[in-house]
Parts: sequence; C-alpha cells; structure tokens
Amino acid sequence: MLAAPGGGKGTQGERLAARYHIEHISSGDVLRAEVDSGTPLGRDIAGYQQHGDLVPDQIVFDLLMPRVAAAAALGGYLLDGFPRTLRQAEQAFDVARRLDFALDAAIYLKVPDEVLTERMLSRGRPDDTAEVIRHRLEVFAETTSPLIEYYRDRGILLVVDGNQPPDAITAEIEARLPLA
Ligand code: ADP
Repeated sequence: MLAAPGGGKGTQGERLAARYHIEHISSGDVLRAEVDSGTPLGRDIAGYQQHGDLVPDQIVFDLLMPRVAAAAALGGYLLDGFPRTLRQAEQAFDVARRLDFALDAAIYLKVPDEVLTERMLSRGRPDDTAEVIRHRLEVFAETTSPLIEYYRDRGILLVVDGNQPPDAITAEIEARLPLA
C-alpha cells in the first residue's frame, strides 16, 4: 500500500490482509512498538517520528525485513508504509528476489492534500499537528512519491481513488487486484 500520510493505508491494509489471509505489516506500527519498548533505538526512532522525518533506511530495513521474510514463508503479506524511499524499495526487491518472493501489486491510494490534512487533524496522533503534518506531506511528495513511477515501471501499479468511503475503496481494490 502506497499513500501519503492520512491516505488510508492502515484501514485498507487491515481489511485486505484479513480478506486474503495474509499478514498486515505496518512499518509505522513496527517502529512505534520499538519506541514503546523503550530501547535506545526506540528513542532514536521517536525523534524522527515526532518531527515527521523518515526513520533512516537501514533501521527500517533491519526491523521490517525479517518480518516480511517470515510472513512470505507463511503465505503472504501486505506492506503498509514500507517501502517509503527508492532505496528501501530497491533493497527490499533484492532480498525478495533472492528468497523468491515478490510483490503482486502496489496499490496507490490517491487523496488530495486538503483531505489528508483534515483526516490527520481529526485523528490526533502525537505526530498529527498542523506543522508536522505539513512536513510529512512534503516528505511524501519529495521522497516517497517517486515510488509511484517506480512501481508503474515494474508493471504492478494499481491507482485507486482514496477519496471515497472506506467500503467503496475496499470493494474497488478487491475488484481490480490481479489475484486469483
Ligand atoms: P503516516 O503514513 O500517517 O505518516 P505511519 O504510521 O505510516 O503514518 O508513519 C509514521 C512515521 O513513522 C513516519 O512519519 C516516519 O517517521 C516513520 N516511518 C514509517 N514507515 C517508514 C519507512 N518505511 N521509512 C522511514 N520512516 C518510516
């Protein structure tokens, strides 16, 4: 799942993972769990999240990839929030190829910035303040949005209008996913 912050990755990710009996792996949740465990690494991560900056690629990669590989061995996974940089995508693709598991689809939930901002302000997570939201949207535009073209070039991009009621989005994704 690819979307700007507030784009609905978490909501749709949970539903789709349940529907296809695969593991829902949210990078934000994995990182927040590390923060909650109070380790020195968790304290570093908290600093990035509070400011709306991306956590460095290597930290994210080391925390996420073992889970992805384990889920792949059990039948599949849905990634929510990862990869978020071209480097993460390329590194994950290398590992996936070596272990012989690959993405079937990259779903981009497209939502206008003003809708994203409204949603995040009403959600009220600690990193959902007006200033931090603005910065996260910039980070998405600059660093994450190139992944849209990257997955289009790989031939697995599915663009879905994310500015619809949640049920309509789920139905549209299910209808258009190229899965058995
Ligand atoms: P949202 O998409 O609404 O911003 P997430 O829970 O996906 O919420 O991400 C929250 C924060 O966690 C991000 O702002 C960033 O600091 C960090 N984060 C999540 N995923 C990644 C990733 N793949 N790479 C780097 N940082 C990440």
